[in-house]
Amino acid sequence: MTDYVNYTSGDPVVDSKAPSGPVHERWDKRRFEAKLVNPANRRKHTVIVVGTGLAGGSAGATLAEQGYHVVQFCYQDSPRRAHSIAAQGGINAAKNYRNDGDSIHRLFYDTVKGGDFRARESNVHRLAQISVEIIDQCVAQGVPFAREYGGLLDTRSFGGVQVSRTFYARGQTGQQLLLGAYQALSRQIAAGNVEMHPRTEMLDLIVIDGRARGIVARDLITGKIDTYFADAVVLASGGYGNVFYLSTNAMNSNATAIWRAHRRGAYFANPCFTQIHPTCIPRTGDHQSKLTLMSESLRNDGRIWVPKAKGDDRPPNEIPEDERDYYLERIYPSFGNLVPRDIASRAAKNVCDEGRGVGPGGQGVYLDFADAILRMGRKAVEAKYGNLFDMYQRITDEDPYEVPMRIYPAVHYTMGGLWVDYDLQTTVPGLFAIGEANFSDHGANRLGASALMQGLADGYFVLPATINDYLARNPHRADEDAVTVEHPAVQEVLAETEDRLNLLLAVDGDRTPDSFHRELGELMWEFCGMARSDSGLRKALERIPQIREEFWRRIKVPGTGEELNQSLEKANRIVDYLELAELMCLDALHRTESCGGHFREESQTPDGEAARKDDEFSYAAAWEFTGTGQAPTLHKEDLVFEYVHPTQRSYA
Ligand SMILES: Cc1cc2nc3c(=O)[nH]c(=O)nc-3n(C[C@H](O)[C@H](O)[C@H](O)COP(=O)(O)OP(=O)(O)OC[C@H]3O[C@@H](n4cnc5c(N)ncnc54)[C@H](O)[C@@H]3O)c2cc1C
Repeated sequence: MTDYVNYTSGDPVVDSKAPSGPVHERWDKRRFEAKLVNPANRRKHTVIVVGTGLAGGSAGATLAEQGYHVVQFCYQDSPRRAHSIAAQGGINAAKNYRNDGDSIHRLFYDTVKGGDFRARESNVHRLAQISVEIIDQCVAQGVPFAREYGGLLDTRSFGGVQVSRTFYARGQTGQQLLLGAYQALSRQIAAGNVEMHPRTEMLDLIVIDGRARGIVARDLITGKIDTYFADAVVLASGGYGNVFYLSTNAMNSNATAIWRAHRRGAYFANPCFTQIHPTCIPRTGDHQSKLTLMSESLRNDGRIWVPKAKGDDRPPNEIPEDERDYYLERIYPSFGNLVPRDIASRAAKNVCDEGRGVGPGGQGVYLDFADAILRMGRKAVEAKYGNLFDMYQRITDEDPYEVPMRIYPAVHYTMGGLWVDYDLQTTVPGLFAIGEANFSDHGANRLGASALMQGLADGYFVLPATINDYLARNPHRADEDAVTVEHPAVQEVLAETEDRLNLLLAVDGDRTPDSFHRELGELMWEFCGMARSDSGLRKALERIPQIREEFWRRIKVPGTGEELNQSLEKANRIVDYLELAELMCLDALHRTESCGGHFREESQTPDGEAARKDDEFSYAAAWEFTGTGQAPTLHKEDLVFEYVHPTQRSYA
């Protein structure tokens, strides 16, 4: 076994910014206590924002609106192509338009419980409070949310809750919200307040005298590597689900920005907390490089089932009602098909493991709209889900109006990420992380429609309030604070980046970046996916350094660094996956409990249900980097529950 498993424990990590007092007053209290920067002084400050998804787009636009000089980056050709555009189902808000018993406290409660009691109460309550402001902000921007006949915004239900609080724009909610943020950002670009660098990828973080002061980035078209300096750096670079190779994430989503920041001192929290989404189109073979999500909103009306008998391979329409097992409705009668994602995913895996899965390889369950079509009529189903049905038909060549869809769980989202305090500041002063890039408010499992809520809460409301405090306490002094490329720390980061890329080009081996990525992804899915065990994780931890060693011997990157070179981009991202994957496995190994979607085989109840261990693991695990392949240091942040007391979750 490698030495990597022999991690050390360091001092606990404390969120020094979270105020005390009644939970509903904490955000107001923090905003009041935070120092402000005089509007006339804001233009003297430069803030780098990496990312233009919902988190970065909203943050860049808002900071520029406040008067800061923003320098912003994304690797797409336009900020509005960020991965957030893919979000289909909706965004939660405790508006209670339906008068169905919703409230800020209920959203707070549902989210803490849904996250299996592994999130901070202060943050989650703030998120629930801000949720209502997000909808107002987006409506004011003209985001075309679905409306009811009377004009009020329409809502639908998502998993893990019994109210209808999800606002949506057909199956394109992310796209419409992103267009709202993008137009606000575009206004600031046109006004000269945001300097936008599309097709430019951050490759490292510059830390000077213990503070984040800039980044090293590569122009993806010309290959030119440059440095950019600022008074604070905000990472809004999204999640790292693509470590698994196959996921529902955009193919280019990657971990480089946060991993490089981690290597420079930012702690990485709960890296093993990955969300496996229950409703994805099953993989069809080895050729695939991407999985497709079918929105969770489909579980509002679709019914999930498998045949009662093992190995029943009759076409679905020939299996009579009494030979079908609507297993979620049977096991969880109160929530039925709308149980949270972790529960639905594990249940799907269980029935497939029993040999009752459907489709090629038995890796699928049915999502059936026959009843909904009878009840609502085909037209109403089309109006609600038409674009999702079309997408399914284009991919599978099966008509979901006629035969049930086939779905299976797949990697979708990462709850882990850079550790941040209540101000969203990492352990590197001046470095902030927002949206999916931070370890977020979702604990061990994220409820549907809450990532968009968190990204926009962070970008429009939280960061713009808290970053002031940091900048006010570190006022810009033009002479003393000027950082130039000649600074030795900058030269060092620049040289490391160039050396890494040159080495990737020089190996000239015989394996493609994709072949390594796929091998790593398969290993991670097998040993660090939905079910984990001590022996499996140890196997993965044995194997990852071997793959890493082989990678540096056999990687083949054609072309040069001075041009558009997608192989080079990919290879460089895989370098980071090969380190992050190791930390994910170690984090999973050390957490010997089942929680969220992570079923630890050694931690189950006598009847095979997931068993959480609150006495031992009621903390966020924040890991400190100590060197590639070297055992990291674990810092624990204890989680305190004053309002929502941990219980065995019940959705029955
Ligand atoms: C198919 C799908 C459907 C979803 N549906 C929903 C839904 O209905 N509701 C919901 O709440 N959530 C949903 N989610 C989750 C949600 O979409 C994401 O969590 C959220 O959009 C992430 O936003 P973000 O701003 O944090 O990051 P992203 O949107 O991923 O943006 C990342 C940005 O960072 C930039 N970037 C990254 N690395 C670098 C770098 N090194 N250098 C320069 N730029 C960089 C990228 O160019 C991009 O601009 C869905 C996710 C998927 C995959």
